[in-house]
Amino acid sequence: MHLRYSCRIYPTKSQQQALARTFGCARVVYNDALALRKAAWKADRSKIPTGALAKSVITDAKKTDARSWLGSVSVDALQSSLRDLDTAYRNYFDSKSGKRAGHPVGLPVFKSRKDSRQSLRFSRNGFRLRGNGKLNLARIGDVRVRWSRPLPADPSSVTIVLDPSGRYRASFVVDVEPGYLPELDTEIGIDLGLTTYAVMSDGTVIDNPRFLRKAERRLKAAQRELSRKAMGSKNRAKARRKVARAHARVADSRMDWMHKQTTRLIGENQAVYLEDLNVRGLGRGRLAKSVHDAGWATFRRLIEYKAARYGRTVGIVPRAFPSSQLCSECGHRDGPKPLAIREWACSACGVLHDRDLNAARNILAAGRADRLNACGGPVRPGVAIPRQAQPVETGTHRNASRPGRKPRAANVTGIPVQ
Ligand SMILES: [Zn+2]
Repeated sequence: MHLRYSCRIYPTKSQQQALARTFGCARVVYNDALALRKAAWKADRSKIPTGALAKSVITDAKKTDARSWLGSVSVDALQSSLRDLDTAYRNYFDSKSGKRAGHPVGLPVFKSRKDSRQSLRFSRNGFRLRGNGKLNLARIGDVRVRWSRPLPADPSSVTIVLDPSGRYRASFVVDVEPGYLPELDTEIGIDLGLTTYAVMSDGTVIDNPRFLRKAERRLKAAQRELSRKAMGSKNRAKARRKVARAHARVADSRMDWMHKQTTRLIGENQAVYLEDLNVRGLGRGRLAKSVHDAGWATFRRLIEYKAARYGRTVGIVPRAFPSSQLCSECGHRDGPKPLAIREWACSACGVLHDRDLNAARNILAAGRADRLNACGGPVRPGVAIPRQAQPVETGTHRNASRPGRKPRAANVTGIPVQ
């Protein structure tokens, strides 16, 4: 499987200039090729073969006065740029034909000098790792790297990125064999929530990380400063970098935190079960949106890739599963409850439930039932996953706030405790 390893790099002033030149040339080659392909398509619906395209926008272009400066940068970076355009087209066509899942991918667009993120890629021919830990890039030189961890194998390519806050990163693609961890018999269900980050079926809780709120004040101040600067001034550009740096710090610490949480969960459990959340439909309140929209999707993505890498199982319980309505003790379905109700007593067996913990236990039971079922094993009665159930729970479903629906409080059949 392919993994990405990303770390900060610290090019010197002259290396930064060389990188800026290469960013520019790679962009021009990309845009020239895109213009040619668009024109060919418009003229006679034809596709220029990649080889011919490379010849006209790199080899031949270098010989013209207008593009002679292409000769001053690594040809490998320019060829990689063309391959990226190929990939962009392939993604578009695959998305259109339904071969590619997920959100629809649009046609490739022209890149701009003013894009806040600049990037370029080197293939295996364009870079080398030095014995002293430096990264040698073709026509740029030996760049200092801060290695956060050693690479597990020889990388097949490296992407150099300059982000809007002015930091440089190298992102290596490494092909690794999945290394399976020793098998465990622990399984866990996770309920991702709004009040706490997550509640586990064993009763442990992951609290909401507070970096965003802590950083919010600093962000606001930086933002205010930016809005006071005159348009197009140097001070404005400086203030903009400051805002970008504040955002980048938050994103970094969130990612770091998420890696730690997901690594621990995958390390400690043979199977992890999550609810399929409709992340895009969730935005409830400003903070919930900013913290969770990015957070939950990333959390799930990290869990899934780490499970694949270490030989663990991830089960996603369908969105329609009424995790908050079932009693995890007796399986009685108690009906939907408004989000404000944190605790309730089962009307059949009388057990007092914490809403999130009960949901996590139901997710565990449903995920386990589904897994055993898939293997031909027994299914615990009462917790089979209803595939066609109505999405009814307030707040965690896309159409929860759709106007014209009955007020939810009227449906409550469980006994609210508080
Ligand atoms: Zn019960």
